[in-house]
Amino acid sequence: MTETSSLHLASRVSQISPSPTMAVMAEAMRLTAEGEDVVDFSAGQPDFPTPEHIKKAGEDAIAQNFTRYTPNPGTPELRQAVADRYREDYGLAFDKANVIITSGGKHALLGLMLALVDAGDEVVIPTPYWMTFAEQVRLAGGKPVLVATSEEDGFRMTAEVIAPAITDRTRILLLNFPANPTGAVIGEDEVRALGDLVADRDIFFLWDDTYARLMFEPAPAAAFQAVQKKLGGRFLIAGTASKAYAMTGWRIGWAMGPEVVIKACASLQSHMTSNASSISQKAALTALTSDQGPLAEMITEYAWRAKRLRDGFLEIPDVRVGMPGGGFYLFPNISAHLRDGETTTDLASELLSEERVAVVPGLAFGHDGYLRTSFACSRERIEEGIGRMQRFFTARSSS
Ligand code: PLP
Repeated sequence: MTETSSLHLASRVSQISPSPTMAVMAEAMRLTAEGEDVVDFSAGQPDFPTPEHIKKAGEDAIAQNFTRYTPNPGTPELRQAVADRYREDYGLAFDKANVIITSGGKHALLGLMLALVDAGDEVVIPTPYWMTFAEQVRLAGGKPVLVATSEEDGFRMTAEVIAPAITDRTRILLLNFPANPTGAVIGEDEVRALGDLVADRDIFFLWDDTYARLMFEPAPAAAFQAVQKKLGGRFLIAGTASKAYAMTGWRIGWAMGPEVVIKACASLQSHMTSNASSISQKAALTALTSDQGPLAEMITEYAWRAKRLRDGFLEIPDVRVGMPGGGFYLFPNISAHLRDGETTTDLASELLSEERVAVVPGLAFGHDGYLRTSFACSRERIEEGIGRMQRFFTARSSS
């Protein structure tokens, strides 16, 4: 076998780093597979199984031999169903020609970056942030411009914070809320102000709404309608079936925007994946068109867990954490517990080895001093995890 270190890899590979959240999940899974009792607060996916009626639609697709290539941007029915869902939920004006179905939300975002970002173009990304955003911009040859939001302000992405980062090279303002990892959301006025900020410029306003159907308060729908009216074809959405419908493994997402952008994404997709899985598209069609009632039950459960885990953290001395506006993450500030020279990566690995609790270090989201803890796990595991973390931090402060 050739000495692998001498093999030539393309430079784009060395410009990006593998997903840090996946690394923690992999280690937690490895320990669990070895029989260890790990409380996994690192997961970026619902603990609920895919609902029965959605699974059934996938089974039916196989039974009916719906197992061939589909049109490259997705089946017309699913594209229409996505457009209809956004009309119904937020009053947004998209038609099926404005939708491409992709292999997950990550893939939708990558398609948009490859379609819109040229070498040297800038994409403004508020932080703490999901690192994939920046890596995808780099993959497209662009420059991620990171703008820090503050804990004191609830990590809100406001026009005031973002404005100084906008330059003549800005191509996209990328907003993800409810945010991964903070759970921060922004209100009607803020959405409008952000729309106004890019209105007279050649800048796309891209909303990653991955966690939007898991909000604990109503989404700022009227503001989005106003922004769409104002920006027209420069208003884009990247979405996914993964989180709201507990379908992470099915790999279905979508990008929405003007036909010319969607056609560009489809052209790229035609040379990469051809189309998203035909079976998964059928399942997603059922997810989007069936009764959305079960979502409300999920949201109630997530809100309960968010509060319980937050209360548990607040019982640990010198830990600060706010209530998320949606999604399934808390981002507690544990900086008071870091020893000299220690990072949250060190602390997270100690927490995993000593107490078998998996969390993702804040460094993986660009802000050290915090831990991303997912409450997409059962109430019983949350109680167990709180107990272990309280023991861990108490032992630390007394050592
Ligand atoms: N956007 C954000 C902010 C995410 O956290 C994720 C997944 O964790 C995605 C997009 C993409 O999800 P998927 O590719 O599973 O649809």
